[in-house]
Amino acid sequence: MMFQRYTHLVDDALAGLAPSRETCRWIMDGDDVQLLALLQAAYVPREKVFGRKVKVHILNNVQNGRCQEDCGYCSQSKDSDAPIEAYPMKTDEQIFAEAEQAAKNGASRYCMVLSGRGPSMERTKKLAGLIKGVKDKYPVEVCLSVGLIDDQKAQILADAGLDRLNHNLNTSERMYKDICTTHTYQDRVNTIVAAKKAGMSSCSGLIVGMNETTDDIIDVAMKLRELEVPSIPVNFLIPIEGNPMYSDHTLTPEKCLRALCLLRLINPTAEIRAAAGREGHLKALQPLAFWPANSLFVDGYLTTRGSDMANTYRMIREAGFEVEGNKLYEAEGGEAQAYRVDDTALPILKPEVSRKSSCVPS
Ligand code: SF4
Repeated sequence: MMFQRYTHLVDDALAGLAPSRETCRWIMDGDDVQLLALLQAAYVPREKVFGRKVKVHILNNVQNGRCQEDCGYCSQSKDSDAPIEAYPMKTDEQIFAEAEQAAKNGASRYCMVLSGRGPSMERTKKLAGLIKGVKDKYPVEVCLSVGLIDDQKAQILADAGLDRLNHNLNTSERMYKDICTTHTYQDRVNTIVAAKKAGMSSCSGLIVGMNETTDDIIDVAMKLRELEVPSIPVNFLIPIEGNPMYSDHTLTPEKCLRALCLLRLINPTAEIRAAAGREGHLKALQPLAFWPANSLFVDGYLTTRGSDMANTYRMIREAGFEVEGNKLYEAEGGEAQAYRVDDTALPILKPEVSRKSSCVPS
């Protein structure tokens, strides 16, 4: 009887149906949820669309800080005391060099992120030129996160070849005013709609761990479904000292996995990303994220550190998954067979029991 519940989850996801709200609440909070069975239920639609592939994204923080908005989770907001170094937009040379590096490292996408409420028309046109330049030179898809965008600016970026525009909803409409007062939830929805109208793909996700209720998580997951967002980063709040929203102390590895499963089952064909905070919140359960999720970021986030490329690729491979279209990964091939205790190069024998170079009486 119990396992029928997981079978229904799979059947509904494969049929493109969202779970009921009651089922969503059970996924997040049910005491009798068996985590491995839930992960397997989320894996079936993931595997159907994406096989065992994992997409790797690299963020380039093209402009840092100096933002006049007050998003409470963001270390670049006007209300954050986080000791970050603000810098203006990077030079074209820097941006091209970083795009080249991302392409060489085999990233599927190169994501440029600029702080701020949204670009002026002049800035939009400059970004359009950069996007075209990167796409002409390197075999990467380009994603841009640049704040609020109207229809006209979205069209300029789409015409330049932008593959995807990112703008996260972050939480439910009900909770939005608790995390930001300088723009509205509807402003964010309008940006996603503008991207879609211009013919671009969109990327929009959420942050879990901001003192939201289970229903807030369900609401935003359902809204992303309604907007037919094809790429959904699921972020877990990183506690950055100096930010107004620091930590709600509710995130456990299991809760993070349940949230990823919920997003997968509500959005069965979307790219679900185990995004910011995966390392610090999922901890030892991190590889299990590949059952519901099929993508992640490497080399950290906008202002915080994360797992580097070598460790992330190794984790993907050792969990039995495959980095999508990555040459570096393919070249590394046999390392998965190597015995490893941790990331140090220390010998296998414990120092206190291993033979010293000179004769030591026992
Ligand atoms: S999330 Fe974006 S708009 Fe909000 S404070 Fe940070 S940089 Fe500014």
